[in-house]
Amino acid sequence: MNAATDPREYDLDELRSRTLLSGGGAVDDSIPELARADPDLLGIALVTVEGVLRASAQADVLISIQSAVKPFLFALALQDHGPAALDLVGIEPTGEAFDAIKLESGTGRPPNPMVNAGALLTAALVDGADAASRSGRILDGLSAFAGRDLRVSESIAESEHLLGDRNHALAHLMRSEGTLVIGADEAVAVYARACAVLVDARDLAVMGATLAAGGRNPVTDQRVVGDGVARDVVSVMATCGVYDGSGRWMRQVGVPAKSSVSGAIVLAAPGVLGAAVVSPPLDEQGTSVRGHAVSDVLSHDLGLHSFRMPRG
Ligand code: GLU
Repeated sequence: MNAATDPREYDLDELRSRTLLSGGGAVDDSIPELARADPDLLGIALVTVEGVLRASAQADVLISIQSAVKPFLFALALQDHGPAALDLVGIEPTGEAFDAIKLESGTGRPPNPMVNAGALLTAALVDGADAASRSGRILDGLSAFAGRDLRVSESIAESEHLLGDRNHALAHLMRSEGTLVIGADEAVAVYARACAVLVDARDLAVMGATLAAGGRNPVTDQRVVGDGVARDVVSVMATCGVYDGSGRWMRQVGVPAKSSVSGAIVLAAPGVLGAAVVSPPLDEQGTSVRGHAVSDVLSHDLGLHSFRMPRG
């Protein structure tokens, strides 16, 4: 058992060996590139709000960010579009799958920014005159969150765009409701490119830490978004970040997080740290099986649960 409760001294390689054998789950096969993922990959990293980084073996293996991009698209939409973005996308959990073809009844808005409908919309709210400039602003924003220049996998972006039939359906549905005002194909292209950004566990941990530190990147010291924006984003991660598994996640792990089909999970414990786990096999809700196990232990060992009783 890892006795240290100070994240700056936490042994992530020991945690990795302890959880590497937890089995089960299946690698996503929605696009060929994801189907080829290594099921044995397990990378873990954490970054404190003071900027101290800890990383395990394989924390430098790149994967596509997929839905772990959604909190950051929401942040950039709030930053660029202001609080008016909250009139265009809901913030209520759905209890449904990430790609459910469903909008909020009465308003025609996407239910929240952590499901596909919502992320298609928030990506469209980021500043930019056309798809290329909006995608450029998103890549720059994500790079500022990560503290280094990120890049896009062109083949993954293309597969996501070509094979994302449900995303095309959602974009058309939102256009018919008048909630999406850019072209449906353009919205899917921008979202697909955002999902195809390559990150490793370290990058995602810095990104989570930037939210946990109120929008200031603790490694580069750059203010990326305002603290009100970071608070809004982390709140919605807490209620909607793990799709229809969000309730179970908050009870067990108790740390706002976002899961993704590439097996990445990004966590943000406000005022304490950001963390990330990358391991491709997923459970039925699309959450990394080992990622969940690692997050459970991390939360327990570091006392991260949002609703724990204060020690003593
Ligand atoms: N690119 C995936 C999609 O839009 C992301 C889903 C996820 O990671 O949960 O279908």
